[in-house]
This record gives sequence, structure tokens and C-alpha cells, in this order.
Amino acid sequence: MIKLRRKPFHTVAISLLLLVSSSALAARAQTPSLDEHQRLLFDIYKELVETNTSESGGETTVAAERMAARLRAAGFPAEDVQVFVHPDNAKKGNLVARLHGTGARKPLLLLAHLDVVEAKKEDWSPDLDPFKLTEREGFYYGRGSVDDKAMAAIFVANLIRYKKEGFRPDRDIVVALTADEEGGGFNGASWLVRNKRELLDAEFGFNEGGGGRERKGKALFNGVQASEKFSRNFTLEVKNKGGHSSLPVKDNAIYTLAEGLTRLSQFDFPVNLNEVTRAYFERMSSVETGQTAADMRALVASGGKDAAAAARLSETALYNSMMRTTCVATRVEAGHANNALPQTARANVNCRILPQESPADVEAALVRVLADPKISVKRMVPSRAREEGQDEAAASARPPAGRQTSPLDPKIIGEIERVTRELWPGVPVVPMMGTGATDSQPFRQAGIPMYGVSGLFTDIDDVRTHGKDERIAARRLYEGQEFLYRLVKSLSK
Ligand SMILES: [Zn+2]
Repeated sequence: MIKLRRKPFHTVAISLLLLVSSSALAARAQTPSLDEHQRLLFDIYKELVETNTSESGGETTVAAERMAARLRAAGFPAEDVQVFVHPDNAKKGNLVARLHGTGARKPLLLLAHLDVVEAKKEDWSPDLDPFKLTEREGFYYGRGSVDDKAMAAIFVANLIRYKKEGFRPDRDIVVALTADEEGGGFNGASWLVRNKRELLDAEFGFNEGGGGRERKGKALFNGVQASEKFSRNFTLEVKNKGGHSSLPVKDNAIYTLAEGLTRLSQFDFPVNLNEVTRAYFERMSSVETGQTAADMRALVASGGKDAAAAARLSETALYNSMMRTTCVATRVEAGHANNALPQTARANVNCRILPQESPADVEAALVRVLADPKISVKRMVPSRAREEGQDEAAASARPPAGRQTSPLDPKIIGEIERVTRELWPGVPVVPMMGTGATDSQPFRQAGIPMYGVSGLFTDIDDVRTHGKDERIAARRLYEGQEFLYRLVKSLSK
């Protein structure tokens, strides 16, 4: 059922439901009765999920145009609803829409990406189609049903709702729906920051990357992503003169590389907490229990120096990745024939670097750990540096320019906490550092603090984004809608 409806009709509906047969009840549970705002969201959400925006089979331009048409139909003037298409690729459309405020404060930006990760029908359960929104047993299934079309649809539906209400915010509310967050050669968010900065300028913004976590339907915490790691690849290479495989010698490129990788596998970068991860472990110690909770408290109290606590926490991949930079071998390639000694052995090592550390330091650590001059280590140029025409050598050595972390501003975090308490009493707000990457990065770099916050709760033990049968509980979608509706409104009046 939809928890948020507070109309008297709701209680009547529940009592009636209790009277009908169980099969009818099941059918009703699949199609919750929606109020007008939820119905509008559902229609937009369905339209977005059913517009294929994957790189191979779809395009974001159609989705951007469809959202633009809805906004114009709701009374937004054409000049406030613009679709920007990449000059070289008409499929990569981005939407920027604006609800004008009084201008007393700088705008608030609401960012979501329109593109989705590839999904093949044959990889999903036979009764589901990734590009058809399917409602089943209280869940909505479809590619993008969480990542990121839930937020995109909510932003559009809420903007229309504000407009209908005649809400005049004290700042402009800007919605940007973008291309190529998941991959592809044209990152819409970064393109907009570079080319349409004046349209997107904001005091701060909300994006994906945070969100609520639940376990067995019970809300655990509402996450706010305020920072993220950045990704860099390193190529390890060993060269050898090779020879006939019938006359092997001890000096072998594959063995040399493998021994180096084994040393890397046994190495951990030092624990290095920052403002966001300190707050994360502090808050999570109230969500976790027993030894894990105690370890989190000890970790924070010792400034990351409690080695025993850190070692136990490191057994959980997420906690490990939150505490330190990580580097892992992701690909290897070696040899040229089955009957020849290898002349080349190469590995890609993918590092997720803490925002307060630099690629040059990570490279130095890799050289030290590999501990063999025969293994060369080369920093790869980050793809965005090329796209942005930066000096590649310099870009590969240093962290991304500008701010990597949004301040935990009490005016914003406090409001997120207040609305969270209204909707989910007792559920803590937890600041997070993303271990992956989102489109918040180019905005933070450009001086616009971004917060990954959605109020959309998903199962902590059943992560389906980017995978099979992506889904969200229907009631959680509408709770997220209400959360963002209240949060954005209270921060702009
Ligand atoms: Zn996403």
C-alpha cells in the first residue's frame, strides 16, 4: 500500500480491501490506488522506462523530447524547456527545464541521467521485458526503474506539481536530464557544465548516488552522497625476448607479472578517513550492531589508526573501499603463441582513489609494492581529460581539478534530516562517499556542491541496478516522490 496517502478515503479503502477475497487482494496490491500526483508520476515513469535509452538500442534525445513535451503541456514556456543535442550525435539529447523563482537566492539544480545500462531481454526473467514497465507483487520492474529514471521522472512530475500549485520559489528550480552517465562518448552533464554553465548555475544540487537502504522491507538509513572516489587505470607491462617454448628459462614475462600481481593482491593501501567517511562510520555505527558497530566507533575514535578494527571492517567490501584507496587487477593479456615464450605480459589495474589522494602517489605505491624494475607502471589518461582537451600528462598525475567533496552544510543536511524524520521516523541520515563515480563530479569541480539524495529505498542485500530484473518497491517510489517534493520545496521558500 502507499504509506503516504493521508486522505480519509485511504482508511476506507483499506477496510474494503480486507473484505475482498485474497486473490482480489493480491491483484489490488499490484495496482495500488494512486492519488493524482502519484498517477502523474507513474505515467511519466512508465513513459521513461519504456523509452529505450541504452547506448546500443536507444537514444536519450527521444526521452528528453518526451519530457519536454510534458512540461510544455503543463504550461512551461518553450524558452524554459530546452533540449540540447550534441553537435556530432543527434541521439545524445539533454533536457534543461526551469521553474522561475523570485531570484532571492541562487538556483537549486536537480540532476538525473536519462541513459541506462544495456539490458537484453534474454538475460532477464522470461516474463519481464527490460524496456516495458512491469508491475508485480508491489514492485516496478524495468531497466532504469531505479537507475536513474525514478529520480528523472520524480523531478519532472514534481516540477509540474509545483507549477500547478502556483508555487513561487525564492530561487529558480532547474531540472537537468542528461546523456551518457553510464558510458558512451558524450557525457551530457560534463558537456552542459562546460557549454551551458549559465543555465545550470546553482547554489547546490541533488543527484543520484545516495538513496535509502532497507532490509526485509525495513528502512535502515537514508544516504546522502557528498563525495566520491575517482577512477584511474594503470598499465603494468613486462617485456622479454621470448624464445621457443621447448627451451623454457626462469626469466618469463608471465611469471614476473603474476608474481607482481600476487604482491599487489596482498597489499592494502593505508586507511585514510576524510570528513565524509568519518561521518559515515559514525552514523553507521548506530545502524550496525555488535562487533561491527564497535569497530566503526573505534575506527573513528582512533582517527583510522585502530588496525584490528580496520582489519575486521575490511572484510566487508564496501567498508574496505570507504576506508582506503583500492587497486585491483581487472584484465590481463600475455603471450603471442601457444608454442612460444611470452614476449609481453600486460595487466590493467583499476584504482579507486580517495578524493584527498593523488594518482601520482598511487603510482609510487604501485611501483613500491610490485617491487620489480622489470614491471613497468604507466598511468592511463582519464577519458574525460581527453574529451575536455586538458593536458593529458598533467591530468593523469593529479586528482580531478576543483572540489571533490560537498560541504556537510547543516542548512542542507539539517533539512534532509527533518524531512527524513517526517517520512521515516527513527531512520538516520548517513553521509556517504561514493566508491564509484556519478555525474556529480563535473558539477563539484565547477564549484556547485552536489548531494546524492533521493529518499528512494532499495534492498541492501539485493542490488539489481545495472543487473538482471532491476526493480523498486512501488511504495518506495512514491515515498521518494514525496520526500523530494517536500525537500526541494522547503529549501526554496
Ligand atoms: Zn545512475
